[in-house]
Amino acid sequence: MLDEKLKRALMDIAVGCRALALYGHEDKSLGHLSLRDPEGRGVWLKRAGVGLAEIEGPDDFTLIDFDGNKLFGSGVVHMEWPIHTEVMIARPEINVVGHTHPFYGCLFAATEEPLRGIGHEGCYFGGDVPRYRGTSYLIDTQQLGRDLVAALSTRKAVFMNNHGVVFCGESMGVAGTLGIALEKACRQQITLASTGYQMIEPPREEVLMKESKLARISTLDRFWEYYVRMLHRYEDVHGKIVPLQG
Ligand SMILES: [Zn+2]
Repeated sequence: MLDEKLKRALMDIAVGCRALALYGHEDKSLGHLSLRDPEGRGVWLKRAGVGLAEIEGPDDFTLIDFDGNKLFGSGVVHMEWPIHTEVMIARPEINVVGHTHPFYGCLFAATEEPLRGIGHEGCYFGGDVPRYRGTSYLIDTQQLGRDLVAALSTRKAVFMNNHGVVFCGESMGVAGTLGIALEKACRQQITLASTGYQMIEPPREEVLMKESKLARISTLDRFWEYYVRMLHRYEDVHGKIVPLQG
């Protein structure tokens, strides 16, 4: 059932779960990543009941079809599986989807502020991260998933008010780097706003130029290699990740 190529791809998503945990995305056993099944059967979703930091390999993923039926794997399916299936249905170019509750992203999602290009990371999103304004509870039906995807539109990240964030991309590198960048950009803006200093930001055309140069697939994939190296370095020293928040 699992050929070597798929096993390697799932291993990359497992590493992605742990890297995201290391960079502020852990929240108990909540939060999940998924990989589009290369054979078109559905999505491989991180199993429920364990945290991102605890994901180690292919056995931690369950294959579900686009209606949420389990096709392979023994793991419990996260209730918010429709986030993943509906993004994959609506966006054929997307292969990896993440949903997490990072600290600063959740704070920012509870405001009406636009995400600004304070540093480079805010510009990765073109100064435009849409907001889903439906329920602040779980996206646990296909209709709610479709509503969320309508808010996401053609972008690669969306804020979910009083809940969390969704980020996605063509590869683990794109989705993962955008997830980490989103949390950093929120942290930068919230930190700067809390000082009361006058905030300046680049002109709109420069934000868009920075998005086109810094957030292209090849660049985000290269940044992701750094995060993976840092994860392995951390694990070499400490063994396993023990997130300190959440
Ligand atoms: Zn959630």
